[in-house]
Amino acid sequence: AKRGKSAHMAVYDPGFDAGSQKTLTLLSELRHAIGAHELRLFLQPKIDVATDMLVGAEALVRWQHPTRGMVPPGQFIPFAEDTGFVRQLTLWVFEEAARQWAALHALGLHRISVNLSTRDLLDPELPTRFDAILRRQGVPATAFCLEITESAVMNEPKRALAMLHTLAAAGFELSIDDYGEGQTSLSYLKTLPVHELKIDQIFIKQIDRDEKDATIVRSTIGLAHSLGFRAVAEGVENAAILVLLRELGCDEAQGYHLARPMPAAEMAAWARQRAGL
Ligand code: C2E
Ligand code: CA
Ligand code: CA
Ligand code: CA
Repeated sequence: AKRGKSAHMAVYDPGFDAGSQKTLTLLSELRHAIGAHELRLFLQPKIDVATDMLVGAEALVRWQHPTRGMVPPGQFIPFAEDTGFVRQLTLWVFEEAARQWAALHALGLHRISVNLSTRDLLDPELPTRFDAILRRQGVPATAFCLEITESAVMNEPKRALAMLHTLAAAGFELSIDDYGEGQTSLSYLKTLPVHELKIDQIFIKQIDRDEKDATIVRSTIGLAHSLGFRAVAEGVENAAILVLLRELGCDEAQGYHLARPMPAAEMAAWARQRAGL
């Protein structure tokens, strides 16, 4: 029978007007979640495809709800974006990630990737807030890669581009997430101060079975390299995909075959074991 979380969750319906009771309840619960320590930082390893070494991890938030259990981000991030709450959420994720960095860096990890939303990119306060967190936690900006989707940039290309330049100048690495599902023009792409193209997992998942997907991935890796970007694959679900990515010259990989997202403390144990420590 249907027993999914959505049965209990006040599932967000973008059709609700901002003042509706359900919207207000979910928003106040989400606000409460930060103070009540209900948010959890999960990390998913990224490895260097050529050397098999751990190079980074992506921060992925979860909500440990007292009665609804572990709520995945797909059930509250869109809501947080529409209400603007995502800006607080991003700062929480960023600070938690900064807190974890030193211990993971000692185990060989270079950087933690953090997801930004459109709202973040249009928030003029973001760079100073990040800077305050970096100082508080004693972590350099170079410890972070900020992941931005094509659509977040294309919503307001001029303002987003100015923000990307500010963040890059501050030392952050930038990544275009879910690359390939949008329609960023190549002439626009080359103007972005980006370090990495993260190929959308829909193209990666079947490259061991679908020749057209393999062709798309090959040309995307070539495009990334010709623009001076790293190519990263996510959604690596089996060993055959990883072997193919190595042949195609993909730089970094992430996916269930390597490791699932895990609580930050487990990530350190995973890194230690992988390094043979
Ligand atoms: P995303 O940024 O594209 O993150 C990758 C998603 O793919 C994650 O789902 C991850 O768990 C999943 N994934 C990784 N490897 C595999 C694989 O091999 N196979 C499959 N099927 N899935 C894989 P998750 O954690 O549920 O996050 C979903 C989305 O929620 C993220 O997509 C991102 O858009 C958003 N999100 C998560 N955490 C944050 C956050 O802290 N801030 C913001 N703004 N958005 C977040
Ligand atoms: Ca991402
Ligand atoms: Ca992605
Ligand atoms: Ca996505």
